[in-house]
Amino acid sequence: MKSRLDNPVFFNNLVQLAHEVDGLNYTLHHPIDRDNKSIIQTRTENTDEQLQKLAIMLGLTDAIDSVLNERTRQDAKWGEQNHEPMSWMGILGEEFGELCEAVNETHFNNGPEARKKGGYLNMRAEAVQVAAVAISFIEALDRRYSEN
Ligand SMILES: [Mg+2]
Repeated sequence: MKSRLDNPVFFNNLVQLAHEVDGLNYTLHHPIDRDNKSIIQTRTENTDEQLQKLAIMLGLTDAIDSVLNERTRQDAKWGEQNHEPMSWMGILGEEFGELCEAVNETHFNNGPEARKKGGYLNMRAEAVQVAAVAISFIEALDRRYSEN
């Protein structure tokens, strides 16, 4: 697979950004955590703009940002999860079911109480949780089976 670093525009942007970032006194621990504790000391007026450029280069869309935030939240709540694959299916299945419910309560008219479980925000939140659990499953598989 061709690396993004093979793209001269991407590479030059990365080099330029590295120079800019190097002049700042902060550490980017985790791209998603930048609003909390990642920017650890000095903030300059350029920091947010540079982080935004970095986010764009890394492909951190709002959707990806939400999924990574959810992963961070899950790790804080549950710690590292190393379930059997069959257990992961139950966890992922539950989240998928919740997503189905949010979509159903958006699509069907089951009354005002049921409607509260539907809508854009509920569908999006549940889709984010499905994606985050799938990523967590991938991470657990890699820990268990990867030869690296
Ligand atoms: Mg859910």
